[in-house]
Amino acid sequence: MSYYKIADLEQYFKHYKKSVREPRKFWSKIAEENFIWYQAWDKVFEFDMGKGDIKWFLNGKLNITKNCIDRHLSKRGDKTAIIFEPNNPSEEPQHISYNELYTRVSKTANVLKSLGVKKGDRVCIYLPMIPELAVTMLACARIGAIHSVIFAGFSDAAIRSRVEDCGAKVIVTSDGGFRGEKTIKTKEVVDKAIEGLSVVEKVLVVKRTNEPVAFNDKIDVWFDELYEAAEASNIAEIMDSEDPLFILYTSGSTGKPKGMVHTTAGYMIQTAYTFQNVFNYKEGDIFWCTADLGWVTGHSYILYGALLNGATTVIFEGIPTYPNPSRYWDIIDKYQVTHFYTAPTAIRSLMTNDYSYVTSHDLSSLRVLGSVGEPINEEAWHWFNDFVGKKRCPIVDTWWQTETGSIMISPLACITPTKPTYATLPIPGIQTVLMDDKNNEIQGNQVTGSLCVKFPWPSIARTIWGDHDRFVKTYFSDFPGTYFTGDNALRDEVGYYRITGRADDVVIVSGHNLGTAPIEDAINQHPAVAESAVVGFPHDIKGNALYAFISLKVEGSTRDRDNLKKEINQLIADHYGPIGKLDKIQFVDDLPKTRSGKILRRVLRSISLNQLDNFGDTSTMINPEVVATIIENRL
Ligand code: ATP
Ligand code: MG
Repeated sequence: MSYYKIADLEQYFKHYKKSVREPRKFWSKIAEENFIWYQAWDKVFEFDMGKGDIKWFLNGKLNITKNCIDRHLSKRGDKTAIIFEPNNPSEEPQHISYNELYTRVSKTANVLKSLGVKKGDRVCIYLPMIPELAVTMLACARIGAIHSVIFAGFSDAAIRSRVEDCGAKVIVTSDGGFRGEKTIKTKEVVDKAIEGLSVVEKVLVVKRTNEPVAFNDKIDVWFDELYEAAEASNIAEIMDSEDPLFILYTSGSTGKPKGMVHTTAGYMIQTAYTFQNVFNYKEGDIFWCTADLGWVTGHSYILYGALLNGATTVIFEGIPTYPNPSRYWDIIDKYQVTHFYTAPTAIRSLMTNDYSYVTSHDLSSLRVLGSVGEPINEEAWHWFNDFVGKKRCPIVDTWWQTETGSIMISPLACITPTKPTYATLPIPGIQTVLMDDKNNEIQGNQVTGSLCVKFPWPSIARTIWGDHDRFVKTYFSDFPGTYFTGDNALRDEVGYYRITGRADDVVIVSGHNLGTAPIEDAINQHPAVAESAVVGFPHDIKGNALYAFISLKVEGSTRDRDNLKKEINQLIADHYGPIGKLDKIQFVDDLPKTRSGKILRRVLRSISLNQLDNFGDTSTMINPEVVATIIENRL
């Protein structure tokens, strides 16, 4: 019996039970049959949840790049591993075969080695979405260096704090990058970020825009010169299962980003397994995830999960609206993309364009759609389903986190019946539970509580870089004996999970714990509304009351505001219940967001509380300019 591929719903339940009853057997069979190892592990796992100590596949030896690349060469050497679609549609795309990827990764690994990078060293990567970004990540893994990718939209201050935090010896960047009409000066930002930082020994500069940059001969090195001269093969470093593979900082939605450390074997096995099953992957599929490689979604599904399965994965440098709002749909038709995995924020923004951009496209190659990053509201779900999937493609609403490494709760495409706004069922191996305030597991269905996981899984982060105490405190202290996700959820009558919002965002109105997601969901059903965020503020009678910040679609912006408010509250009463009535509604041009596109409710909460002097860590905010107007017009 093999457990790697789930064939139908009955088998899903069987595998799930097996994974709970006999986790050792379940995971070791998957690990043994589907990956190559230098040496087998001698123990499947060992853990102490109270101390946040978790290990998987102890003493196993492997290299993840052997599994991503080398083992495919005999059968799939000429198959395309990466399709690179440049920002400018008239620039030639690249089709990088597995053979070519092997050469590029080997050469880049040798370049890094020539700069003195060794196993265990940290390398920060600040590159636009170009093939060199993926290749450098793999090159680090090849030689055992720990990569820490920083999204190329971050400011110098955000880079500096990450580089300092992880002690990166080398930074890989580019002269610049293209994003829509804009050129981004990545090198310039890095120069500013590392001014006076002695830890950084070398800055390796890839050429992308070919614009002149300041060049400091003491630390700057051109990538292409070393690359040309580098050997085209590289013997992969032998890594322990628990050697760190990468550090990645969380999105910073709730506070200062945490540098999550992921290790090699467990991460590899679970990203591969979830890629295969959640997306119902089949040989020949063309997988496109629109995330940036700088987020965990990019790490696990653009790169590792896809390559571990020998898939073809698309890397897109540009933005959805350049040169016009058809770009995503053009790309899907151009490459006959079968899987399109994106975020609710992208869907909501695509929905604000004229629908003819999408309806004029064939899109018949699509088989599976996916969503990740935030709760997907019902209106966005239906639009995605009707206009993109043309009602033929299952939508996998995948709930997971930087910390979890891979997808935790999600429908399995073509297997699990979907339900709008529900992430549905946990993946085999993931023992999700809902906990009440007294640390009791809530039994049965049609209940809500704090979403926790009561047994470790292979791809869980092992620590926060340099701060294990924060790791224990954040994830293992609120509900002792479990991992606390920080999110709240509802379990419906059939056991499906719906994420109702972050624990921090819960508002207690007249003694009822209200999650923000379902209320926002009702608001977003109004045809004039683009996006919304609900927070609480103190109220004499109710304890707390609800304050909504709402942005309107272009065509909605001329509507009478008082009528709109009434209609919105009516929608809430109809779809959620009168308890969700909004006491304050403020219309805004845009909502503050993280650089990964998530709504920053904590900033809005501070505004609603009139706490205007300290918004916490705002280095992750993409549009700080909207905040001043929101403050000015606050109610
Ligand atoms: P930080 O931890 O720094 O505050 P963050 O939680 O936004 O930032 P990520 O790890 O990128 O950082 O995001 C994980 C979170 O995103 C989840 O905890 C959840 O709140 C939300 N999320 C992700 N996917 C989904 C989904 N499918 N449905 C609902 N919420 C989701
Ligand atoms: Mg988080």
